[in-house]
Amino acid sequence: MTALLEVTDATKSFGGTRAVDSCSFAVQRDTVTALIGPNGSGKTTLFNLITGYLRPDSGQVRFNGREVTGLDAGTLYRRGLSRTFQQARVFPQLSVEENLVVAGGYSWRQLLTRRVSRADRQRAGRLLEEFRLAPVADLLASELSYGQRKLLEFAAVLMSDPELVLLDEPTAGVNPVMIETMERHIRQRHAAGVTFLIVEHDMTFVMRLCDPVIVLDQGKRIFTGSPDEVQTNSLVLDAYLGS
Ligand code: ADP
Ligand code: MG
Repeated sequence: MTALLEVTDATKSFGGTRAVDSCSFAVQRDTVTALIGPNGSGKTTLFNLITGYLRPDSGQVRFNGREVTGLDAGTLYRRGLSRTFQQARVFPQLSVEENLVVAGGYSWRQLLTRRVSRADRQRAGRLLEEFRLAPVADLLASELSYGQRKLLEFAAVLMSDPELVLLDEPTAGVNPVMIETMERHIRQRHAAGVTFLIVEHDMTFVMRLCDPVIVLDQGKRIFTGSPDEVQTNSLVLDAYLGS
């Protein structure tokens, strides 16, 4: 069976920096795959290449058996590939509920003129319940804690009913209770059939949630394996210890 996501020889430079360097890997359906690597190893750039926020200089991205290299983020989102950002991105001046509705593809004008279908209002309502955001549904997103904003961003990407979700550091800057909440939601959605690719620095989180683990160093994939294999692999240890 073909992989859900295949990246082949992706390269992206910024000036003289090769942020991603002939990088190839695959994400199999129904996995929670981790993408780890030292700071600056190219993880976020790779996410940007996969999700249409940057074009690779060369190389290919295939999603669901079709080439999607260079397609814009909106098209990919509608096809079932969505992502969150390292610094949570929500609309601060919209309410929590409105953030979900807008993520479902509505313009602000449609929101203001209440031209939102009942089905999409209901979908937003279910996500508010699932993520326990219903009590804060009418607050502005700017009034939420940082952790709640990350949770809202996660809920918002689910409005499109994605097949593959990329999470960029879901636990960064988030308190321990919220980390558990985040983990629970990832597990629930994974059980419901969503595939995940997760960039994360918290290794205990990665080790208990993810398999396989892909390791990047200086823009290249240096290892793919189970959490146990990664912890004992000398290439990986060298990359982290900088030797
Ligand atoms: P990671 O997410 O693994 O920490 P990044 O993908 O953010 O790594 O960065 C990889 C390399 O590319 C770093 O050297 C970084 O400074 C550089 N880089 C990333 N984005 C840009 C950009 N927009 N302009 C210039 N350099 C960038
Ligand atoms: Mg990053």
